[in-house]
Amino acid sequence: MEILVCVKRVPDTAENEIAVKADGTDIVRDDVVYSVNEWDNYAVEEAIQIRDNVGGTVTVVSVGDEESEEIIRREMAMGADKGVLLSDAAFEGSDGLGVATILKSFVDKGKYDLILTGALADDGAGQVGGMLAALLDLPYASVVNKIEVKGDKLLVGREIEGGNQEMNEISLPCVLSIQTGINEPRYVGIRGIRKVASLEIPCDGKDACGLDAGVVGAAGSKVKRLTYFVPELGEGAEMIEGSTEEQVEKVIEILKAKGGIK
Ligand SMILES: Cc1cc2nc3c(=O)[nH]c(=O)nc-3n(C[C@H](O)[C@H](O)[C@H](O)COP(=O)(O)OP(=O)(O)OC[C@H]3O[C@@H](n4cnc5c(N)ncnc54)[C@H](O)[C@@H]3O)c2cc1C
Repeated sequence: MEILVCVKRVPDTAENEIAVKADGTDIVRDDVVYSVNEWDNYAVEEAIQIRDNVGGTVTVVSVGDEESEEIIRREMAMGADKGVLLSDAAFEGSDGLGVATILKSFVDKGKYDLILTGALADDGAGQVGGMLAALLDLPYASVVNKIEVKGDKLLVGREIEGGNQEMNEISLPCVLSIQTGINEPRYVGIRGIRKVASLEIPCDGKDACGLDAGVVGAAGSKVKRLTYFVPELGEGAEMIEGSTEEQVEKVIEILKAKGGIK
């Protein structure tokens, strides 16, 4: 099975205190530590497991600047067979549709049975997977937490509100967005990193992708970020102390005072 996984380089929230720039245009990016988007790491692990079971290849692709090579290499150290960077000054400032358009141009040049994205990334939009599927006119399942290969179809599980589970059959080729927890991503050791350290990562710009500058990047963006800010804090939570009985009594008192119970 030919599998493509879309991966994004994002600020590592475990490693950084994220602050917003004074002009509200973005987060402060100086000295920020980056890593692969957590959801995408699960998607790559799933792709590797499927390839190891049924054969084929796993390709990872990222839209970003040259620094994104670092995460492509990491995912190759994990076990992906190929990695490609899509990078061009004209891609900067793309909105979700722009990113999906760039990814589609790459998909069109190959032949993939299965395309995986993460369920969401650092901007929390959760839009690229669905948009990519629509642009490619392929079936799509979101928030997938289980995949079983059944010939030219897949059985896919989806997590439903309230902890319920849904199983679907979906025809290949298709696009799936992957939820964390679908597997246990393998540890990437220093030996694996060294093995891919000097591999050349091919890089396609807008011309190689066959894209006009006007349809991607800030020029093609129809969603404009106006501002970015941390909302003002409310009054804060009241911490209830005492024994369990005292805490229960206090909660009942508060709920009665606020009209929640009589
Ligand atoms: C006006 C505007 C300007 C912007 N300017 C910039 C900018 O200059 N630089 C910038 O980095 N972002 C910029 N963004 C944000 C960028 O558009 C978002 O990254 C994009 O909308 C995807 O949203 P998300 O990160 O929440 O991804 P989601 O849709 O939540 O991501 C889901 C999945 O899509 C795939 N995916 C998402 N992004 C990529 C990618 N780049 N490469 C490969 N796969 C990907 C991954 O598999 C990911 O798990 C801008 C957004 C707007 C609206």
